[in-house]
Amino acid sequence: MIELSERVLQLKPSSTLAVTAKARELREAGCDVVSFGAGEPDFDTPANIVEAGCQALKQGKTRYENTAGTPAARQAVADYFRQRFQRSDVRSENVIISTGAKHALYIAFMALMNPGQELLLPAPYWVSYPAQAQLAGGTVKVIPGSLDNNFKITPEQLEKAITPQSKILMLCSPSNPAGIVYSRQELEGIAEVVLRHPQLMVFSDEIYERLVYNGLQFTSFASLSPEIAQRTVTFNGVSKSYAMTGWRVGYAVADEAIIKAMTKLQGHMTSSITACTMPALIEALAGPQDAVTEMVSQFAKRAEHIYKLITAIPGLKCAQPTGAFYILPDISALFGKKDREGQVLDTAASFAQSLLKHKYVAVVPGEDFGAPNHIRLSFATSLEQIDKGLQRLKEFVEELL
Ligand code: PMP
Ligand code: GLU
Repeated sequence: MIELSERVLQLKPSSTLAVTAKARELREAGCDVVSFGAGEPDFDTPANIVEAGCQALKQGKTRYENTAGTPAARQAVADYFRQRFQRSDVRSENVIISTGAKHALYIAFMALMNPGQELLLPAPYWVSYPAQAQLAGGTVKVIPGSLDNNFKITPEQLEKAITPQSKILMLCSPSNPAGIVYSRQELEGIAEVVLRHPQLMVFSDEIYERLVYNGLQFTSFASLSPEIAQRTVTFNGVSKSYAMTGWRVGYAVADEAIIKAMTKLQGHMTSSITACTMPALIEALAGPQDAVTEMVSQFAKRAEHIYKLITAIPGLKCAQPTGAFYILPDISALFGKKDREGQVLDTAASFAQSLLKHKYVAVVPGEDFGAPNHIRLSFATSLEQIDKGLQRLKEFVEELL
């Protein structure tokens, strides 16, 4: 019997990736699955970016690079922050390029959190935040969001949750899994509270920053003031905005001391990211942006369409998605109903399982997002797939006894 570490035994597998794997397995077995599982754009990486990666390989970018990223790639991120968020304080020394925003987040938790310190985590949240904080020895304190307030936490809620052990406040706007976006004013309210508690840092996950709809304006948390910038680690990457999930390129921007600490960790974990992807990152951030504009307009149409279809299904309630590519309907009105095999659906997990089994529609149950009354649908899929999947979901709900 192999003895695994306590650390890994306590860890749950990523439910977003698990649903995607299950949907892929069924599809490979010949089933006509509609997947609203993992959040990844259905678009191809724009050709100019692919070309930059290919050229880099042909030019011999096949060796280790500087651990935190090439000077040119770090500079490209700094330039992007200056131009998009008016962050004239950001220099290349404030940037680390990592294997996706996911790994940047992990090494940031490892760099800043001591055992026993708290992560303040507004719910619903992305599944990997609590897992990563716990791997760093931290404890997780959930601040519950509610549908009535569009899943946003208030300054009062934050103030109440803070203790001397609170070390990191997690923010994710546009949000995975709720698809909502905090306004500048709402973020200012949160920033005021943060400034009253000098021990508290903020992790602002802005990976969906480009994907906002309905004329909303995105605000980068660290751009609110120099004092807030000092206390914030900003995470971003090219996975979502440039359809580059498989390239595994993300980054963090923070005070130089934090970036140095993260670089020390990265040096023992992954070294630099894959060398040929760095010129592709530069091309993504600094090259033509028309492909992004086109993808965003497609996502905006899908957001509106899926919201209309979901709210037309009796028993389902949800916030209108105005960012990212997720919608999070509350299905709790259906709890207690039976599916066609007589199985009682009393949790989001049992609902999602039965929906996949009987209708071949994959959704992620909300338990691991801290949203046990909800299911998450990613609408990073075509309008045709959305129509087909939502028709099946509607039939599924209508058939419940
Ligand atoms: N943060 C959020 C909220 C996400 O949804 C994702 C998607 N996996 C990530 C971070 C990580 O993205 P990546 O590692 O592909 O950059
Ligand atoms: N972030 C995406 C999601 O939430 C991709 C899967 C993952 O990395 O968790 O579905």
